[in-house]
Amino acid sequence: MKRSEFSPNGNAVENLIRQTLKKHTSPIMLIRRSILEKQYRHFRAHLPKVAPYYAIKANPHPDVIKAFLRLGSNFDVASAAEMNLVLSLGGAPQRIIFANTIKSIEDIQSAYKRRVMLMTVDNEPELYKIAKHAPGARVLVRIKVDNIGSIVELSLKFGADPEHAVFLLRKAKALGLHPEGISFHVGSQCANVENYLHALEIASGIFKEAKEGGLMLNTLDIGGGFPIRHMDDDRHPIFETMAGKIRVEMARLFDKKTKFIAEPGRFFVGPAGVLITQVIGRTFRNNKNYYYLNDGLYADFSGIVFDHCKYELKTLRRGQKFLSTVAGPTCDSFDTISLSEELPELDVGSVVYAKNIGAYSSASAVPAFNGFTPAKILVVQ
Ligand SMILES: *Cc1c(COP(=O)(O)O)cnc(C)c1O
Repeated sequence: MKRSEFSPNGNAVENLIRQTLKKHTSPIMLIRRSILEKQYRHFRAHLPKVAPYYAIKANPHPDVIKAFLRLGSNFDVASAAEMNLVLSLGGAPQRIIFANTIKSIEDIQSAYKRRVMLMTVDNEPELYKIAKHAPGARVLVRIKVDNIGSIVELSLKFGADPEHAVFLLRKAKALGLHPEGISFHVGSQCANVENYLHALEIASGIFKEAKEGGLMLNTLDIGGGFPIRHMDDDRHPIFETMAGKIRVEMARLFDKKTKFIAEPGRFFVGPAGVLITQVIGRTFRNNKNYYYLNDGLYADFSGIVFDHCKYELKTLRRGQKFLSTVAGPTCDSFDTISLSEELPELDVGSVVYAKNIGAYSSASAVPAFNGFTPAKILVVQ
């Protein structure tokens, strides 16, 4: 794939920003549908045997979900509210996986009532809850796998020890559930393909162990984690290379009849987002330019906190750059986006934008801290 596909031509984006600002006031989160489609097709092309379940927590905007519905995607939800959102937009219950290993009883009851029957689980008490409130559910046992080098480590909180997996699968069966396979998550923004390869190896061992005990598994869920470029000069191994290696190992380690699924979030929606902000105030202190934007850490830059993410701040201005501090609008000094950006001289009203900010940004924004609301989301072509 050409690099330009991941970092769309700067001028095209800048023209889009200028046009948008003629009709709307900032802050604005643009989600480009063409990029959602490109990411989806790209995933399908490189992992053709893997059915994607878009993890909507990355960006649950209804138009984003609708775009993936139209493309034929399935969905990963973590709560009844997320599940109801997908269903209300026309997603069929068979296209949903309830992939939170800790579910409230009420949420399990909702899933059962709405016929969402595929769930992940990583502990025995959860199996009892599911057996009672969603009898006959199909379950995947989520195992703990390496998250080495992933930006967001999920194994700190989720996943059964792999040596307990077969016990849990058998227990599921004894409780009248349908144990169908294994799932894992290598950690989000995973740049280390070894995490996937090692996890595949461990999962295939569990498939074999289960088979020896007379339990046939048919589904492997390889989770999310697929990385994107956040900064223009990110150099980590890219998705294509990883997907190639994952494909080879899936073919080597698993029966031809195995169903593979995945739960990409960031990969599907991250590159589609462009956040447009404007400078609302500026000063010169500590020998630096300070720019205060109309969006910050409490809103659409919340990924800096929760997603441990860095974004490349860009401007429409060219010219000599100076060391600058960039902060959000709230009365909290924590609301500082960057202490060391090289930026040209900006004025009140100047645009500062960030690309590749479609995932884990608006989704985790606080509604109105200090009265500052997050960016309006515009899903555009
Ligand atoms: C967050 C999450 C995902 C999506 O992860 P990405 O790294 O954004 O692809 C998938 N599955 C589960 C269970 C998750 O919690």
